[in-house]
Amino acid sequence: MEHVLRCNALKCRKELGERALVTTCSHIFCVDCAARLGLTGPRHEHRNSCPACGSHLTSPDDAVISNLNPSEDYKTSVLSGLSPNIIMECASRALSFWAYQATQEVVYQEHLSKALTEKYSSLNVHLDKVINEANLEITNLQNKLTGKFLSFSLPTASDSLRRKNDELAQAYKEKNRKLLQIQELYDKLKRKAMLGQIQDAAEDAIDSTLHGQSVGETQFDGGSQNTLAYQDTGSPYGQHHSAPYEQQRMPAGYHNQTTRQHYSTSWPRTVGAQCE
Ligand SMILES: [Zn+2]
Ligand SMILES: [Zn+2]
Repeated sequence: MEHVLRCNALKCRKELGERALVTTCSHIFCVDCAARLGLTGPRHEHRNSCPACGSHLTSPDDAVISNLNPSEDYKTSVLSGLSPNIIMECASRALSFWAYQATQEVVYQEHLSKALTEKYSSLNVHLDKVINEANLEITNLQNKLTGKFLSFSLPTASDSLRRKNDELAQAYKEKNRKLLQIQELYDKLKRKAMLGQIQDAAEDAIDSTLHGQSVGETQFDGGSQNTLAYQDTGSPYGQHHSAPYEQQRMPAGYHNQTTRQHYSTSWPRTVGAQCE
């Protein structure tokens, strides 16, 4: 893309198309700026000095309107008739003008780039500062929020814990009450069972005593054979007496068939009756 000249008025810098005012001090302005800055008056004596460099533009050809997009005819006629030296000089000066404008543009762009870089750096520093401040602020707010949340949620948590504790205490009391009831029931049943055992044992003792007496009577009435048998074994009472004594010493109901039967039938019925 070909380089396009811009109006040298720094506040304008418009791209120049068809027509522009060029000066002998190598500056160029758009038509609007030229008129505004007093460079295109009817009388060149009253022309203002160059706004870019301050050169006096008193000569009539110091500032002329030029067609930047000339017709083919103009290109043919503008330098026609001039000697090659003059043609070359004109071309050389025009090229110098172009080179100067290009250099100025480069300088301008460099200055712009430098200024923008500085601005960018300072903005970057400022941005870092703002980000740091914002992060600090966010951290502070988060801390505050956490504190608020904790202060808000702690009472709630302790309330729920207290409620749970009350419920558990209530449940514990209930269980304790039931345990006492069961203990009482168990004691009652135990007493009843023991009473039955004692009664059975007493009956057994009576039976065995009566039985033992009847056996003794028959033995003494039996004659010499029975007496001999007692002498042979060396035991004064024999095996008949030992069984009733053991029954009395042992816990009642374990050796006696009738007693065991009595418990196996009466125990579940008693429990069932109490539970109902
Ligand atoms: Zn302009
Ligand atoms: Zn100038």
